[in-house]
Amino acid sequence: MNEAVMHFIWNNRLMRPGAWHTQSGERIWLESPGQHNRDAGPDFLGAQLRIGKLWWTGAVAMHWHAMEWYRHRHQLDPAYNQVILHVVWEGSQSATRSDGSEVDTFVLKPWVDGSILDHYRQLMSDRGEFPCASQRGLVDRSRYFAMLDRGGLARLEQHTRRFRSYLQRSGGDWDHAIWVGLARSFGMKVNSHAMEQMALSIPMSEIRACQGQFDRIWALMNDRVGSRTSTIRLRRLRMRPVSFPEKKLKPLAILVAHGLPNAFALMATSHPAQVRALFRNAAVLQPRSNLLPQPDDCLSPTTLQVFIINGLIPAIFCYGEQNHWPQVQDRAVQWLEQLGPEKNRFTNIFASLDVYADSALRSQGMIHQMNDYCWPRRCLECAVGAFLITRTLNKPYAQTA
Ligand code: SF4
Repeated sequence: MNEAVMHFIWNNRLMRPGAWHTQSGERIWLESPGQHNRDAGPDFLGAQLRIGKLWWTGAVAMHWHAMEWYRHRHQLDPAYNQVILHVVWEGSQSATRSDGSEVDTFVLKPWVDGSILDHYRQLMSDRGEFPCASQRGLVDRSRYFAMLDRGGLARLEQHTRRFRSYLQRSGGDWDHAIWVGLARSFGMKVNSHAMEQMALSIPMSEIRACQGQFDRIWALMNDRVGSRTSTIRLRRLRMRPVSFPEKKLKPLAILVAHGLPNAFALMATSHPAQVRALFRNAAVLQPRSNLLPQPDDCLSPTTLQVFIINGLIPAIFCYGEQNHWPQVQDRAVQWLEQLGPEKNRFTNIFASLDVYADSALRSQGMIHQMNDYCWPRRCLECAVGAFLITRTLNKPYAQTA
């Protein structure tokens, strides 16, 4: 058992109603548990409490055992002078601040229903990569869907943050930022970072100058990723020949030689299915005049889907955000709902639990959920985990005593 479960109980006010009191015998009324602080310092900031006759606003520090206040040397740390309550699971040691004043202590254990700890232990004892798998039957599928929809939006926010950084590094040139997103999509998982760095290193003026000149862009890209002086390295270890970097680099070079569609034209399309046509229409090289394939042959369905999800939709969302157009941001989300789900390891894991993605929003939510919550075992911070842990509590619990 660890302090994380105490944070969960405090944050969600899962203490039994009653006459809570500190070790010095003062009654406690909880107005607000405060903001959970995941950085250094006390565990909750800005908590609002009444202790005895006085109302307090300040920090709350938590430890499993009261002695840990001294083990962690908080009595010497001025950052802990703002602590108004020391919450412990057990122990009777009093705590002092660096200015010598005493902090009241609240022992949590008598106020917590044992089922919370039992359900938490049950969840954490599953050593699989999806700790709640064995309890899947206890959770309605709609609860997973709600969680995945939130996860899909959180992942869109992550992609949008990355797009904003492209835009910043491109000096506000939307065409260049979209080009970087496109190049990253060609790198797939293994070489996405290298392709992104390669694209960032080529100015848009060079990209435009290469229109109609495959040899020029091909030489430029190879110079960035293959020359002795280049620091960008494409990885080819443990890859099937079909995924070798040059198999991805060449189609991208051909697309550039054909000419890339304008960023605003791409963002203005009314449906993701129209994006491919814009690449096709941008083609300036005719198949008979040279032996280069056409854009359709360079953009595999998977690459196009990755580009739309990870590059174009975040660009649309970012554009709506910068111009204060919520309708444009909504359109970005609608695109995610309209696009079919990706097929990958994440969707397979959820499918084994009888939870299927019916859109890219949900398949993106699966990636987000597995990467950020299930694998790091952050079940206490997940809606499904919170439901499983509190499922037998009588709700709602009183928020104040
Ligand atoms: S984080 Fe949530 S969805 Fe993932 S295993 Fe834990 S409880 Fe299940």
